[in-house]
Amino acid sequence: MNYKLKSDNFQSGRLIAGNYLFTGQEFIKNGLVEIDDEGVVLALDSLGNPPAEKAGVEFYNGIICPGFVNAHCHLELSHMESKLPQKQGMSAFCKSIMQLRNHDVDKQQEAMSLADKLMDIEGIVAVADIANTEASIRIKKKSRLKYHTFVETFGLKPDLADDIFAKASLLKVAFEANGLRATITPHAPYSLSENLFRLTVDAGNSEGIVSIHNKESRDEVELFSKKQGAMRNLFGSEVDLFLNSNHNPMQRIINHIAPDARLLLVHNTFVNSDDLEQIDAQKTTLILCPASNLYIENRLPDIDLFDKYNMPIALGTDSLSSNTSLSILKEMKIIEAHFPNIGLQKLLRWATLNGARALQMDGDIGSFDLDKRPGITLLSNIDFKNMKLTDNAVSRKIV
Ligand SMILES: [Zn+2]
Repeated sequence: MNYKLKSDNFQSGRLIAGNYLFTGQEFIKNGLVEIDDEGVVLALDSLGNPPAEKAGVEFYNGIICPGFVNAHCHLELSHMESKLPQKQGMSAFCKSIMQLRNHDVDKQQEAMSLADKLMDIEGIVAVADIANTEASIRIKKKSRLKYHTFVETFGLKPDLADDIFAKASLLKVAFEANGLRATITPHAPYSLSENLFRLTVDAGNSEGIVSIHNKESRDEVELFSKKQGAMRNLFGSEVDLFLNSNHNPMQRIINHIAPDARLLLVHNTFVNSDDLEQIDAQKTTLILCPASNLYIENRLPDIDLFDKYNMPIALGTDSLSSNTSLSILKEMKIIEAHFPNIGLQKLLRWATLNGARALQMDGDIGSFDLDKRPGITLLSNIDFKNMKLTDNAVSRKIV
């Protein structure tokens, strides 16, 4: 961590302290951060233990954190809240999504606007958001959050690959024309023809970042291992050509990623130690969306195993079609409840700095390094004795 304690260097900025300050990497007891009017970090210190009284300090009961990063979301599905079946598996879920594609445009805009505001209030500062349409441009343009939009491609018919890619390219330009960062990215290993996969990943490589849903469902694993099952039935024979040439879908993704590009593998619900052996932890982040995994599959990834392998992990919410809220705190609570050994320090690192790194935004957000502008989120109702979130833990943005 390259912050310096600068107690002798306080300027005339706003001083914010709490029982603990989480720097992005570690806790400082009675930590204090000084920011300027723009929210830029000027200094970091501890008030000591017990905390010394210092004039002008806003002292909060709780943990002062850098703003959270939601590393996987689909804002444009926000109007589908509570409309899809739970715990029925991926194929049933996909079928319902397709049926719900026709919708009231105003309701969709309203739902996206509300979801964006609630993320802001809870303390999220940046979002990696999947888009298939232009629907989210208006909301993102006026949002306080930083969005990295991943324009998603899918399609199994090889002769349609050029058309699908051309449409995605136009969509990317539409986001960029509105000042929004956008990259074309593949949906999943099972949903793209070989030529569409290559076109898409090459485009991501040229911008240094690729995000892909990875080993999310039992149906997906069955599709690749047995070439049958609910997902094979859903896609029909279109998927066969592709299946015959792909025995190891994760290896295929890894092989295609440029050496200097970042890879975001999303979900990983069925990733095992053989898979982890293949992953280059230097350039890959495992993005976990546990609430969505419980909603669709009623299963969680083997997070203790990922941790044992020292995999970089970040957190996402997925969409309101498979989650009841877009809350990074809720994702942390689920992990804490099921994997009590992980501990709050790692969870907060995943929720802040690791998400920022995955999105290549760590030059500006994710930690209280000097000169960054990470936002400040207050986490309260903490069990300080055991350093755990309680069920009643809440978070809110204070800067
Ligand atoms: Zn997703």
